[in-house]
Amino acid sequence: MSDPLHDAWRRCRQAIDDVAGPGRRVVLVAASKAQPLARVRALAAAGQRDFGENYVQEALARIAGCADLDLVWHFIGPLQSNKAREVARHFDWLHSLDRDSLLDPLDRHRPAASGPLQVLVQVNIDGEAGKSGCAPQQVPALADAVAARPNLRLRGLMAIPRPDPDPARRRAAFAAMAALFADLRARHPEADTLSMGMSEDWPLAVAEGATLVRIGSALFGPRPAKAAAAQD
Ligand SMILES: *Cc1c(COP(=O)(O)O)cnc(C)c1O
Repeated sequence: MSDPLHDAWRRCRQAIDDVAGPGRRVVLVAASKAQPLARVRALAAAGQRDFGENYVQEALARIAGCADLDLVWHFIGPLQSNKAREVARHFDWLHSLDRDSLLDPLDRHRPAASGPLQVLVQVNIDGEAGKSGCAPQQVPALADAVAARPNLRLRGLMAIPRPDPDPARRRAAFAAMAALFADLRARHPEADTLSMGMSEDWPLAVAEGATLVRIGSALFGPRPAKAAAAQD
């Protein structure tokens, strides 16, 4: 029996394994923003375990609708301070920690029973104005601050490089992230995750050392028109 979503997932998982090469397992996070609950459940039935969400309100409905499944939820969108509590309560991972002011609410609202929230520091690697992510030179201090919080666990770095049409420049941004990640690991050997690469550019990211890719449209097809940004 063939199901287009299952087939897309199998192809994507296989392609990632092929680029990664033998003995290297890259985590695939399915970016499920704006997808109906039924599509998320269908992908979970195919074997997908990690899901990434951008909008808190929308995500909470999907998380509740999958409460009977053993899934891992990643918050990958920009995080507003007033949403930190919901993220701390309902997610397993946060990919977008980019400022000190989020540390208190995240640490304070993380339920003890959930264990620590797994945290990645988001870096604005291209230095684009108005984009989320801290400056590369802020990474060490922010990483130290995460590691000092009992209810947060520092796991690594995340970036969304500018979608530069020139693959060499994109690749350079991924390589710059890999260098920052190596520096981070020298200070924090427990950091094991470099989250970078999306549908259009994940092979470059994996070639440069991504340990986790976040893929939406290549799995689900084009996203349904969204009303989500307004809700959040
Ligand atoms: C939507 C999104 C993705 C996936 O994007 P695609 O191009 O659909 O693969 C990955 N990361 C973040 C932060 C996103 O918002």
